[in-house]
Amino acid sequence: MIDQILKKYESLGLEIERSCASMCQKLTNHPCLPKCSDEVVCCKQIFPLCFIEAYYISIGVKKLDRSVRRDLERHAEKSQNALIKKITEFNSKSDASIIQSVYANTDYETHNSAQQSITKFLHSQKTDCPFLHENLCQIYTHRNIDCRIHGFAYDKNTNEILGCHRHKEIFTGENRKKFESEAVPHNFMYKEKINLDASSIFYLTGDEKYRSVRYLTTPFMPILRDYSTFDWNKFFTSKLPPENLELNSYSLVFDLEV
Ligand code: SF4
Ligand code: SF4
Repeated sequence: MIDQILKKYESLGLEIERSCASMCQKLTNHPCLPKCSDEVVCCKQIFPLCFIEAYYISIGVKKLDRSVRRDLERHAEKSQNALIKKITEFNSKSDASIIQSVYANTDYETHNSAQQSITKFLHSQKTDCPFLHENLCQIYTHRNIDCRIHGFAYDKNTNEILGCHRHKEIFTGENRKKFESEAVPHNFMYKEKINLDASSIFYLTGDEKYRSVRYLTTPFMPILRDYSTFDWNKFFTSKLPPENLELNSYSLVFDLEV
């Protein structure tokens, strides 16, 4: 069953790539890969991954050469420990929004703002993505949805082109209008991704209540953990026992400890 969910997620990723490629063909001045080879500033940050994304990346990591994997593991272990330390420091200083590992039974707003705080915190770390090596992505075919769409998407709500400084320089005036009309919507396929995420957590825990549980982690975790052999039922039920879960409320687990 988890294999079927992963297949669906893979198809989703390919559909997004097709849309991005078709946009790239129409906008010949589009600066992203493969043309962007000297800087790749968009990969110079870390970001949260949802469950299905982290699972799929962990499969991509297993396909890498042993020595590459070893290097990634060494680096990820160090970075993950440093990150935990920084979160602890941040939480000890912050009196407003601290970063928790479990947000149980919250409303949608709380759940959403917790996700945003985690994302903001990770972005603020000024750390390169662990998969970036000599300006290339080592897990390119397994990369997450935001990475696939970055540089090709437009957010109608905020009028924002989701790209880097190059997009801002190139896409002004008529060029911008063209970008907006050809761009992939920033939340394209987002619902499908969330549904696959929920189905995978439900399948692994075997309890309907876990459909409203969301999972986030760092890009280091799919390097440090084998998602296909890990005991997910134990993981989720120890963090959020089913008897404590309320239907129609949201829960979020931020997975940091290996
Ligand atoms: S978003 Fe910018 S840095 Fe990233 S691939 Fe595109 S042009 Fe390069
Ligand atoms: S996963 Fe790959 S594409 Fe995404 S930020 Fe990392 S190196 Fe860049």
